[in-house]
Amino acid sequence: MIELQNIHKSFGRTEVLHGIDLAVKQGEVVVILGPSGSGKSTLLRCINFLEKPDQGTVRIGEMTVSAAHASRAAILALRQKTAMVFQHYHLFRNKTALENVMEGLVTVKRLPKREAEAKSLHFLEKVGLQDRLHFYPAQLSGGQQQRVGIARALALEPQAILFDEPTSALDPELVGEVLEVMKALAREGMTMLVVTHEMNFAQEVASHVVFMDNGVIVEEGNAATFFHQTHSERTKQFLQRVR
Ligand code: ADP
Ligand code: MG
Repeated sequence: MIELQNIHKSFGRTEVLHGIDLAVKQGEVVVILGPSGSGKSTLLRCINFLEKPDQGTVRIGEMTVSAAHASRAAILALRQKTAMVFQHYHLFRNKTALENVMEGLVTVKRLPKREAEAKSLHFLEKVGLQDRLHFYPAQLSGGQQQRVGIARALALEPQAILFDEPTSALDPELVGEVLEVMKALAREGMTMLVVTHEMNFAQEVASHVVFMDNGVIVEEGNAATFFHQTHSERTKQFLQRVR
C-alpha cells in the first residue's frame, strides 16, 4: 500500500532522514517508535510531501512520486491518498465539530454541502461525537477534539491514515477514548502509520513496529516478536525509558 525508498531530508545543512526504506501493507498498523528529534514527524510529513524529500520515492497504491521530479499536480494527487492526525489537533477554532469535518470535503474534495454534511455526520457518529456536532473546539475536551481530528481524517476516505503522536497532548484520563477509536479502526482494516509512545497500544494493535533514532531505522519487526526479541543497545535503552 505504501512504500518508501531511500528517503533523505535535510533542513539547511543538517540531514535529519538518512535514507529511509519502509513498506506498509494494506490493513497493517505500523507503529513508529523513537526518541524526540529522531525524525518521526518528518518521515510522516515526507509521505504526503508536506515536507518534500530531497531524495527518494514515495509510492502509495498505484501512484509513485519521486523527489527528483515531483510535479505540483502529482503532489496534490498523492496528498489525497492519505490523511493526517496531528498531536495538537489543528482544528479551526471558529468552526464547530461538524464544520471542521466538512471543511476539507467542501474545499478540497469539492463535494456539495449537503453531501459533505451527510458524510461528516456519519464519521462523527463513528467516533462517538453525534451529540457534539455543533460544539466549538473550546467547548470540547482534548479527547473529543482529537476524535474530531480523526473523523476529519476518515471523512477524506484516505487509503491510509498517518497519526503523529495523537495522544501526546492529552491528559492521561483522555488518552483511552482516543486509543479506543484507533483500535476500532485497526480492527476494521484501516491501514495506519502511528507515531506514538503508547507501548500498550503498540503491543496490542501494531502489526509491525519500527524503531527510529537519528534519522535511520535502527530496528524493525513483526509486532508479535519485536517486544520480546533481543535488541540493539539503542533500542533497549529507549524501551527501558518509555516502559
Ligand atoms: P521527531 O518527530 O522524531 O521528534 P522531527 O521529525 O520533528 O523528530 O525532527 C527531526 C529533526 O529535524 C530535529 O532535529 C528537528 O529539530 C529538525 N526539524 C524538524 N522540522 C524542522 C524544520 N522545519 N526546520 C528545521 N529543522 C527541523
Ligand atoms: Mg514528532
